[in-house]
Amino acid sequence: MSNAVRIVPLGGVGEVGRNMMAIEYEEQMLLVDCGLMFPQNDMFGIDVVLPDMRYVWANQERLRGIVITHGHEDHMGALPYLLRGLDIPVPIFATPLTAGLIAMRAREHRVSSRVQLDVIESGMRRQVGPFDIEFIHVAHSIPDTVALAIRTPAGLLLHTGEYKLDMTPYSGAPTDLQRFAQLGHEGVLLLMADSTNADKPGRTPSERLVSETLDRIFAQASGRILVSTFASNLMRAAQVIETARRYGRRVGVAGRSMENNIRLAIEMGYLPIEADELLPADEFESAPDHEVCILCTGTQGEPMSALVRMARGEYPHLTIRPGDTVVLSAHTIPGNEELVNRTINHLFRLGARVLHPPLWSVHVSGHAARDEMRIMLDTVRPRFFMPIQGEYRHLALHADLAREMGIHDDRIILVESGTPVHVWAEGWATAPAVGGDLLFADGRRVDEVHVTLLRDRLRLARGGFVVVVVSVDETRNAVVGEPSIVSHGLLRREEHERLRELLQNALRDLTFDEADDDIETVIRQVVRQHIRQLTARKPLVYPVIVPA
Ligand SMILES: [Zn+2]
Repeated sequence: MSNAVRIVPLGGVGEVGRNMMAIEYEEQMLLVDCGLMFPQNDMFGIDVVLPDMRYVWANQERLRGIVITHGHEDHMGALPYLLRGLDIPVPIFATPLTAGLIAMRAREHRVSSRVQLDVIESGMRRQVGPFDIEFIHVAHSIPDTVALAIRTPAGLLLHTGEYKLDMTPYSGAPTDLQRFAQLGHEGVLLLMADSTNADKPGRTPSERLVSETLDRIFAQASGRILVSTFASNLMRAAQVIETARRYGRRVGVAGRSMENNIRLAIEMGYLPIEADELLPADEFESAPDHEVCILCTGTQGEPMSALVRMARGEYPHLTIRPGDTVVLSAHTIPGNEELVNRTINHLFRLGARVLHPPLWSVHVSGHAARDEMRIMLDTVRPRFFMPIQGEYRHLALHADLAREMGIHDDRIILVESGTPVHVWAEGWATAPAVGGDLLFADGRRVDEVHVTLLRDRLRLARGGFVVVVVSVDETRNAVVGEPSIVSHGLLRREEHERLRELLQNALRDLTFDEADDDIETVIRQVVRQHIRQLTARKPLVYPVIVPA
């Protein structure tokens, strides 16, 4: 394995989001993507989850460049955090729209001075250290998405980025499958391919289906139309704007992230509208209903998003009323169902007509389904195959598919974030783990996710906390005087009195064995036991010991 290329997945392999991969040859490193992941429901107080960029910081003298495949948060959202930890600027290769979004995000995080963009187009090539990178056009849910062909002295690597084989995408060309075929002919050492929809049979429906459905909705609606979609789904935004204009409606934008993205995309010429044609927020109520279309955030029921505030009657510029049509043009990310359904309930109560998938074909995925994955494997015919970008079940299902296609088991590389893989002409091998830990941004800090910290927060959320202050006479090894009890989030105020009495009785005159050197633990156990009897809850318990 002397002439091996080293692949280090630092996020996004065995999980959805925070995509980042280091590709190394000898002493040089190339980074592909730097995305973030939204925290799971039980990660209280965590803003975003980051890939394990400590590996990159620790090896930054070897870093030659960063390639970002497209402008979605899970592929570029963690860049500002990464850049803050790099001592020297590194070139970032991105297509025009992706570059625009990176620059915008960098401004928000005040790291613009660290961004050194090299704007590329599909079809171009760039030499970065020993890596000869070719950018290949693919269709996805945001324009300007690329896959990467990376020629290394060890062989040709192919990274699909995120793609689908939509023959009638809303805008831009279909995925450049012909180029993939040519590269396959040239001989691909390793194919790393998107696994997001490995559990979806058949093909992902075309964007054309969404266009047709939107058209039908606009043709029928006489009141205002609100369309909620991901702020980063600029293809969908373009579809909505184009349809609205055809039906004589002006388009307004609600939600900060949506507004930022739309304004940037308009500025860069990616949307069929001029900035001064947008409907200002103070006309959302006064413009004639049949001339209004609002693009808004909130597809996942995010509490601060425009749609959710509208649903709660708390949005300053718009009040939902009978006659309004609300279109949810997105799929619900698993875990968000409750928030989304709550929002839909509110909207129906306010008299709106709510249209969402699967009853209405107002959303299709941006990722290839199984038949398309099959075509990709068949077109490229790689020597080795590594499923990436997906939960472990997606990777496993993608690996199954490769097996069905005749790729032998020992040529399929099924690993997760943190496990480096060496690949050379005749084989591959894993290397000791180098990272892959979950990093998180918690307020302004970037740190490892500490399991105990999250467990404490979970416990606080479920049971509140109890503080017990006791005086201990160390010569007698006994509690003296009256313990004082403070609790929060455990019981209603009127019940607290009962808890106080119960604990005071239990702790008053409590004595300890000589061997009980940890008085704190003893007190905690006594308190927990009594609380469990009273409430069946497990709050955090803090004993405070005061020497008598
Ligand atoms: Zn994407």
